[in-house]
Amino acid sequence: MQEYVPTSVAQHGSALARTTPEIEQVRDGVWAIPLPLPHAGVVESTLCYTLADSSGGVHLIDPGWGTDDNRDRLDAGLRVAGFGLSDVRSITATHLHPDHLGLGVLLREELGIPVALHRAEHAALTRPMYPDPGATIARWGVPTEHADALVAVAPRSQPSGFVADLMLDDGDALDIPGREVRVVATPGHTAGSICLHDAADGLFISGDHVLPIINPGLGLGGFADDDDPIGAALDSYARVEEFDDAEVCPGHGYRFRGLGVRSRQIADRHRRRSAEIAGLAAADADATVWALASRVEWTDGWDNLAGFLRLSALAQTELHLRHLARRGTLGE
Ligand SMILES: [Zn+2]
Ligand SMILES: [Zn+2]
Repeated sequence: MQEYVPTSVAQHGSALARTTPEIEQVRDGVWAIPLPLPHAGVVESTLCYTLADSSGGVHLIDPGWGTDDNRDRLDAGLRVAGFGLSDVRSITATHLHPDHLGLGVLLREELGIPVALHRAEHAALTRPMYPDPGATIARWGVPTEHADALVAVAPRSQPSGFVADLMLDDGDALDIPGREVRVVATPGHTAGSICLHDAADGLFISGDHVLPIINPGLGLGGFADDDDPIGAALDSYARVEEFDDAEVCPGHGYRFRGLGVRSRQIADRHRRRSAEIAGLAAADADATVWALASRVEWTDGWDNLAGFLRLSALAQTELHLRHLARRGTLGE
């Protein structure tokens, strides 16, 4: 297994300095174009990867958040790479989150560029994460005085009415003349998250499945109530180790080598969290999700988690309980 090392120093440096990274050439015909998020936090920009084909066109992976500013930045970035927006032949989103798919929806409307998504991810577009936030918050046993604040931050819906042009399945090759870029299904972050492998160029585009710096959240869209996103994610982390030879092109941060090591780091962190929650649940069999979540050793501390971060902590706690119940390791 390869060592975990950053391979794009400019983006590494700027990520640490908390400024927007610059456009970078990755390979012949492959560029990374950073497109800012409107609400910069830990993550400041999405890296859109552009792949030139053998017939004068260019293809986009994860075109970033849908703003006019990003449309102009993408156009400028494509010009550096020798193209313009009118040369874009297809868009593929690794998953449905607005920082990956967002601008794709706008470009499809404006220019008719076809958009591809994994089949399960496309189904997830019409399945909001919190169809009835009040019911979810009641199920978690949230005290009344905290309920309204959490209902207010629950995301309601995905891009409304959007229909993708192409459904992808595991193992499919993207329709890019002169390149063989294969879909690797990696459910976990969302139900239909994918990574993309270009064996000839030795590149692994990892979306939000594997990131440097931060640990991607799990179960963030498209799963049914009885699915086990954590179990799915652990399987997906093990699966991508076979692409350890490739340089990783993540959705955020900087490129790196050491996909296997980084995947294990992230998977182990989720396993430790599961073990922690299993211990808390065993010590108090009647505890609500709220009570258990408040006892978890969150990195920032439970008392400092407000709004969406607290909602996420509660959701993750419930997902771990479901995972433990599914694997038969709860209450033993
Ligand atoms: Zn995401
Ligand atoms: Zn993202």
